[in-house]
Amino acid sequence: EPICRPTGQIEDASCDYETVETINSQFFDRLDTLRKTDFFKFYKVNLFKECPFWNENGFCMNRACSVETEEESNVPEEFRVNRLSSVTTASAEDVVMTGSDASCTCSQDEFCHLDDEVEEGVYVDLLKNPERFTGYAGPSANRVWKSIYEENCFNGVKFVEPARPAASGGTGFVDKSMLQSSSPAMGLSSGFSGLVSSLQAPLDSGDSEQCLEKRVFYRIISGLHASISIHICHDFLDTKTGEWAPNLECFISRIAEHPERLQNVYFDYVLLLRALSRLGDSKQNFSLRKGDSIEDPLAVAQLDQLIQDARSCPTTFDEAQMFNGQNRESLELKQEFRQHFRNISTIMDCVGCDKCRLWGKLQVNGIGTALKLLFNRNGGGEEGEVRLQKSELVALVNAAHRIAESLRAVERFRDMYQAVGEKK
Ligand code: FAD
Repeated sequence: EPICRPTGQIEDASCDYETVETINSQFFDRLDTLRKTDFFKFYKVNLFKECPFWNENGFCMNRACSVETEEESNVPEEFRVNRLSSVTTASAEDVVMTGSDASCTCSQDEFCHLDDEVEEGVYVDLLKNPERFTGYAGPSANRVWKSIYEENCFNGVKFVEPARPAASGGTGFVDKSMLQSSSPAMGLSSGFSGLVSSLQAPLDSGDSEQCLEKRVFYRIISGLHASISIHICHDFLDTKTGEWAPNLECFISRIAEHPERLQNVYFDYVLLLRALSRLGDSKQNFSLRKGDSIEDPLAVAQLDQLIQDARSCPTTFDEAQMFNGQNRESLELKQEFRQHFRNISTIMDCVGCDKCRLWGKLQVNGIGTALKLLFNRNGGGEEGEVRLQKSELVALVNAAHRIAESLRAVERFRDMYQAVGEKK
């Protein structure tokens, strides 16, 4: 039986799994071509900010954790951050935050704390620093994930991962010995025998009392976490042979045994796709902030095509369903949602592995940009236009590519699983 091939409606989205699969069969290649253009491969990021929440001294000494940075002089002028673009004026909305946002002057409308692009940071060629297994794990990594999930607490109510469906009888059982010939690096976790049936169990989204907005918040972070896990398992280092190869056992224990995690990856996909469809077209220069522009005609043409494709897809997510009450609670909820997401962007400075920090920051920035495109229309600039800075656009496209690549990797794991079954 196929594993990880969910069917039917994706919860809290406007489309089904099959639609996403069809879309991704074309969309992936477009994103893959686009992210390789010079405009989208250079990302300026500050990897050296101190963790404001705790003393982070669990620095990962593995070579795989290091990031190869680019000398500014190696980055073609047109792809550098434009000084002009960073001249921003404080608007009436800029406020001094309190609590964990303390000492930060930032716009209440932002979903992320953006690094000061001009003064700080290094240029990274993303193609030279792929997100993959680094060996970063243990208390430091756990603490970061735990803090991220703590942000998923609104009004003192925390939304937690639903309990895994119990391994029970039924059709589609797999034989535990089935994977014994593959790499033992990750070890099989318990409950494996119920794998296939649990994958087909109805997905429980946890506490049904939670409102849509809070469920969405949880899905976003759980989907990101799952997507990172998929990349780790897909680009995994077998320490015994020194070879990089997909690790099926890793995938099974981290993803396949938790169908709701996979559902949340699909959820992030529909959210990002919807956000891409809301970008302006090239005539408006993609609503980039004053001073920022895309000079590369190839990147412009490809981004244009990508946006058109995204627009021609069936609607994958209906953002109008969120924060739609015309009352104070709805407004407050939106502010709270933003602030919690901003906190997550700050928590990224606590990741004790440079490579993980790079991709963590980029993906959180990319999803934050998507949220901005979806939820900052009202009261924004001209006709609700949302202006982005260069790094936000680069992060958005690369984050979308990461999620799209996760779905590709899932296909590959399905095939691997089937091949193992056929051999037996
Ligand atoms: P973890 O993935 O650390 O998960 C901790 C706990 O969270 C689990 O026990 C489970 O209860 C819960 N959980 C797990 N997944 C989900 C989910 N999808 N939804 C809800 N709950 C969940 N390592 C690399 O090798 N390469 C990287 O590029 C990399 N990037 C990282 C980026 C960030 C921002 C962070 C915080 C960590 C990163 N790591 C990376 C480390 C990696 O994510 C794991 O923490 C590490 O591999 C240890 O995994 P684990 O099995 O202990 O569980």
